[in-house]
Formats: sequence, structure tokens, C-alpha cells
Amino acid sequence: MSTTSLQSLPPPPCAEPAFGPAPRRATRQVLVGGVAVGGQAPIVVQSMTNTDTADVAATTKQVAQLWRAGSELVRVTVNTPEAAAAVPRIVEKLAMMGVEVPIIGDFHYNGHQLLANEPACAEALAKYRINPGNVGFGKKRDTQFAQLIEFAIQYNKPVRIGANWGSLDQALAAQLMDENHARAEPWDAARVLREALIRSALDSADRAVALGLHADRIVLSAKVSGVQELIAVYRELATRGDYALHLGLTEAGIGSKGIVASSAALAVLLQEGIGDTIRISLTPEPGASRTQEVIVAQELLQTMGLRAFTPMVTACPGCGRTTSEFFQELAKVVQTHVREKMPEWKITHPGAENLTLAVMGCVVNGPGESRHANIGISLPGTGEAPSAPVFIDGEKAKTLRGENIAQEFVAMIDAYVDEKYAAR
Ligand code: SF4
Repeated sequence: MSTTSLQSLPPPPCAEPAFGPAPRRATRQVLVGGVAVGGQAPIVVQSMTNTDTADVAATTKQVAQLWRAGSELVRVTVNTPEAAAAVPRIVEKLAMMGVEVPIIGDFHYNGHQLLANEPACAEALAKYRINPGNVGFGKKRDTQFAQLIEFAIQYNKPVRIGANWGSLDQALAAQLMDENHARAEPWDAARVLREALIRSALDSADRAVALGLHADRIVLSAKVSGVQELIAVYRELATRGDYALHLGLTEAGIGSKGIVASSAALAVLLQEGIGDTIRISLTPEPGASRTQEVIVAQELLQTMGLRAFTPMVTACPGCGRTTSEFFQELAKVVQTHVREKMPEWKITHPGAENLTLAVMGCVVNGPGESRHANIGISLPGTGEAPSAPVFIDGEKAKTLRGENIAQEFVAMIDAYVDEKYAAR
């Protein structure tokens, strides 16, 4: 028998590796409407509408849906005079509905004209998004960029300077390609284009500062659609400046591919303390709600332990030990219930977002996992006695049986929230 004990093991050769995300990179804090982005503010969830902004009713409705789902900033495209004219009406309607979410205007090509012609739009927006690759072409580019920055100064608005792989500043890319040819050891083309994207964002921000916009009024982004490229680009951006950073994998895709790719890229960066606001750029499934991108962003931040939005349900995947679909249905009922209750609980039971729940399919891991949650239920697997023990804060509290297990379990969750998180 070995005589080695824990006490006799040598100490680890160096300090324990850090557990959890690195502290956030020190960035400047930018106020967008009433929402703080950057500095030590919580990482902000944002989204974007896909309605025609000129359609006031449809855009107002979708902004309200995104806000109710938890989006803390909402961006709308401002692409035509009609869209620009609609913005103040949308903002006014939202205020009448009690929807308090800053609206960001997304400008390409003609933003300088739209802001000049629609002062009410310039005033109503909480932030302007400017794409340095799409501001204008040739000699007009610098003039039109300067006009946009002057509007931001005049109306006291922050801007996001958002470079994008799909609309890279071609003149800058060509210049960097030429410079690269002169290098003793030229970089590969992908690295030159990454550098062009980074330089487009950083040089544009420096130019905005030179034009008189304070650095605390600038958020930066440089989005690409590849996971590894995005990580490389943002690591560079974080090293080379202290601007607040908006993270997002552009054109992430549809369904699970979009969710996985966005989560893979953003999780690495967030773990390294990079990123002050995030958007998940999902292509919605036909007929699916736009709010899915908000839920994914929240779940990414919450599962990483960076923020809490809504109680999370731990559920086992199921296997041959539980051939019934009941536990899958119960997991869904419970997650849907707490998500629907959360807007109310946020006011009446602050802290309920930290509640942890477990729905497990059989006795193998059921009682153990359920004990780790605030409330967990271990359903009977195939051949097990038809009873479902419920654990509250690690202790077996009750055994549920019969037809009404789902209703009784949901009632126990509500009672727990009432007792533990009642507003004082
Ligand atoms: S808890 Fe039971 S049913 Fe669920 S995956 Fe594990 S063994 Fe299968």
C-alpha cells in the first residue's frame, strides 16, 4: 500500500493557475445613453434589428422585443432619408411604451448627408456607428468621415468606429500591401489584411480624436467572420489601445453553427479580459425570433460566470437509462418558466437571476447534480421506482410522484424565489 499522503506531496512548482476569467483589460468608459460601456462596467449585451427602419411600427415592435429579451443597446440601420426620418418617431414611441433602451444608428456611405438633413435623427440616436471602410471613396472619404465626427461632437454623441472584414478600407489595404513588398521578410497576405483591419479602426479613432472627439466617446470594433482571425485581431486591438471594445463575430451564420462559432471566438477573448460589449450576429432561422441573439449573448456571459441574467438549468443529456422524454420536457418547461418570470423577478425579487436549477434523468447522477443546485429534481429512470426526489440547497426536501410533477416542481421554484429573494 502506498504511504504517499496529500500532506507529503511536494508543493506545486509555481502558483496555482488562475481559475476563471482574467480581470478585464483597462479600457476607457463610454456612456451610451444611460448605459456604461467599458472601464469596470459589466459587459453590455447588444443586438440589431432586421426590420426596415422606415417602418416605424415594425421597428418599434422589434426593438421592444429585443429590449424585453434583455438587450441593453439596440442598433438600427439608418440607410435612407425615410429611415432617418423614422428614427425620432421610433425613439418617441419606445419612450411612450416605457422601453428605455439606447438606439444606435448604423451608417454607411451616406451618413453625413442623413445626419445633416435630419437633425432630429442626429439628436434622437444615442450613438453613431461609423464603418471606416464605407464612409466614402477617394478624396471624399476623409471629408465625409470628418463630417460624421463633427456631428458626433455637435450632438454630444459617442461613436463606434466599426471596421469590418467585408468592407475593408481598400486604399489602406493596398498601401499596406505595397509596404509589405518592401519588407526584407514579407508577411503573408492574411496577416497584411488583418493589419489593415486593425489599422483602419485604430487610425480612424486617432483621427476622430484629432478632430476633437474625446477618446472616452469612442468604442472600437474590427469584425471578421473566422474564429481564429477574430481572436488574433482583438488581441492586437487590446494591446495597441485602450479604447472600449465591441466584440462580435460578423456573419456568424445560422443555427448551431452561428452560436458555436460566436461562442468559441468570444469566449476566448472574454476569458482573457478582452471585450466591453458583445453582439451575437446570428442569421435567424426562417420565422424564428430575432431575440435569439440576445439570449445566446446572455447565456454566453452567464455560463462563463461574467454576468447573471436569468436562472440557469443544468440538465443531463439523457441516455438509455431514461427512455422517457419527460425529463427533457421538464427541463424545457423549467427554463421557459424562469425566463418568462425574470422580468418581473428583476423588480420584485432581485438576485433571483443567480438561482441554479437541475433537472436530471435518473439516479446515476441525478441526486448528486441536484444537490449542487439551489433546487434540483432527480427523475426516475427506466426500471426505477416512480418517484422524484427534490433537493433544496443540498438537502432532500420532498419526493414528487404522479401526474403533476412538473406543476409541483415549478411551484417549488416560485416558492423558493419568494422566500430567498424577496425585495427588502
Ligand atoms: S443522469 Fe442518468 S439519464 Fe441522465 S445521462 Fe446520466 S445516466 Fe443517463
